[in-house]
Amino acid sequence: MKSILRKSILYKSGISSLDYAMNPVLGCAHGCRYPCYAWLMAMRFGKVKSYTQWIQPAIVSNTLELLEKELQKWHWKIRHVQLCLTTDPFMVGYPEVRQLSLESIRMINQNGISCGILTKGVLPPELAELDQRNSYGISLVSLDEEFRKKWEPGAAPYQERIDALRYLHSKGMHTWVHMEPYPTPNIISQDLKEILEEISFVDSIDFGRWNYSSMISHFPDSNGFYRAMEEQVRTFCESHGIEY
Ligand code: SF4
Repeated sequence: MKSILRKSILYKSGISSLDYAMNPVLGCAHGCRYPCYAWLMAMRFGKVKSYTQWIQPAIVSNTLELLEKELQKWHWKIRHVQLCLTTDPFMVGYPEVRQLSLESIRMINQNGISCGILTKGVLPPELAELDQRNSYGISLVSLDEEFRKKWEPGAAPYQERIDALRYLHSKGMHTWVHMEPYPTPNIISQDLKEILEEISFVDSIDFGRWNYSSMISHFPDSNGFYRAMEEQVRTFCESHGIEY
């Protein structure tokens, strides 16, 4: 795997003044084609030159060294760290990324700070042994493997994502599903209820539209469609005691 060095690793996530994020990798082998917002930004700011380069990720080899230094200096003003906003902490096919993310989460937790994890990979079972205040999420917008192969070609199969999340839930961890970018029926015709039933064990669900592509505008009344889907998610969550 390629590697790079960085000058810093933690940065304000913009969610609140106490919330930070870190990305121990540049690029992402999952190669989502919606397209991926992180890839668009990496292209715009000249961090990568192409999609081909984006899907050949480079690990930040001085991550732990930077993290230790920055936590020592700033731990008192950090409440929460999100992994990740511009890559995937449990990237399929990269055990070194998995290992580095686990070690980073452990180090952050040892400083009394919780982590929020979001992946399209497989959440490792070892996470169940870490800080109970952490929250573990998967991105999931379909159950159809043909859809996944087309739009999230390098990511983990849906069932593997769900099973790993279910395991962490069974161990008492806080779990959530990020349903974004949810496709309109001209991209795939599917039943939202089936997806919701499959993840009905989680603590929290958030739902978002398919952005950064003109495809949804080809569907007549995409606004009406999304209003109906949002209502369905709200009703489902309320009847199952799930935050949304
Ligand atoms: S998993 Fe996330 S970071 Fe990776 S390509 Fe897909 S959307 Fe981008």
